[in-house]
Amino acid sequence: MVPKVVYGKGCFEQLASILGPQRKEKAPFIYLVDDVFQKNQQLIQRIPLRFNDKLIFISSFEEPKTEQVDVLVKSIKTEFSYRPSGIIGIGGGSILDLAKAVAIMLTNKGQASEYQGWDLVKNKAVYHVGIPTISGTGAEVSRTTVLTGPEKKLGINSDFTPFDQVVLDPELTIGVSKDQWFYTGMDCFIHCVESLNGTFLNEFSKSYGEKAYDLCKEIFLNRDLNDETAREKLMMASWHGGMSIAYSQVGVAHAMSYGLSYVLGVKHGIGNCIVFDHLEDYYPIDVALFKQMKQAHGIELPQGICKDLTESQMDTMVKIGLSLVPLWENALGPDWESKINAEKLKALYAKM
Ligand code: NAD
Ligand code: ZN
Repeated sequence: MVPKVVYGKGCFEQLASILGPQRKEKAPFIYLVDDVFQKNQQLIQRIPLRFNDKLIFISSFEEPKTEQVDVLVKSIKTEFSYRPSGIIGIGGGSILDLAKAVAIMLTNKGQASEYQGWDLVKNKAVYHVGIPTISGTGAEVSRTTVLTGPEKKLGINSDFTPFDQVVLDPELTIGVSKDQWFYTGMDCFIHCVESLNGTFLNEFSKSYGEKAYDLCKEIFLNRDLNDETAREKLMMASWHGGMSIAYSQVGVAHAMSYGLSYVLGVKHGIGNCIVFDHLEDYYPIDVALFKQMKQAHGIELPQGICKDLTESQMDTMVKIGLSLVPLWENALGPDWESKINAEKLKALYAKM
């Protein structure tokens, strides 16, 4: 679990006093910031840069890659002779994941791709702080950092992955576009649906999942993007949704969305939406709700994205999807292999 969190409108101002005690002599804080803020000087000027601290703008146009982590770690090691005091990620799930992975790889040998999996990290990461600027993924609270590697898209899941500190300031999410608000928000809704309908469900996950599910319903059925209360509620829904899956697992939409992302580069939030729209056989009540939410906000999802795939691309997509065993086991039970197979997945992908 994340051991320290501050929440509230304007709490970003506390960052300097939070970081102060963590600063080691000559060791900089490195800020990884979504480059969407390059044109938002108001936010950039509030970042408490001191001494040799460094701010690096990162594009979230593509989801984080293991290679990108390795390049960043190498450049930090080359530029500074002291290991950084901390890594601070400011952005959405992409930047938060990158910050977690860089913090881990600064203290662990080899390449990031060697750590994709469960509990492969040996050494404690550098102190790292997560500051979300869009709500939904739960990356601020989870024990994974999802990375696309040379062979797979899989997280570095470990006890050293979670942030040491999270700053939840709902005001930072002002400026998110409507479509992106919906896609990333639906990631949270889908986390709850998959956790609450999964066989791994337990009272711990359920208590968080139910809260986040109710918040999502209220936000996406009764409120809008520019509603301040909705912003605050979605930030907490994201946290609770993340907590719910941390102690259970996601399901069919995530497994299939990973395939879409690996082969077509479709991003997580929108990919989940594209898949979930076709999962009425697995989550009938919630797919109907999702369609209602989509309509309420005038969201049009891309259609026919799999229609021009080659056979080999389709095979890769299916292979990636089916390789996520814990997700299928959670969704369909221990005998999941008797319930889903490559043919069924292909037929589903073909509809998207
Ligand atoms: P994102 O980080 O990719 O950002 C989406 C878009 O929103 C980007 O264009 C970004 O520039 C923009 N944006 C962010 N904040 C903004 C703001 N305040 N104003 C204007 N624009 C803003 O999107 P995401 O959906 O948050 O994250 C997706 C990533 O999270 C994927 O890489 C996915 O794999 C990962 N993820 C991780 C976990 C986890 O537990 N670690 C869980 C779910 C998803
Ligand atoms: Zn997700």
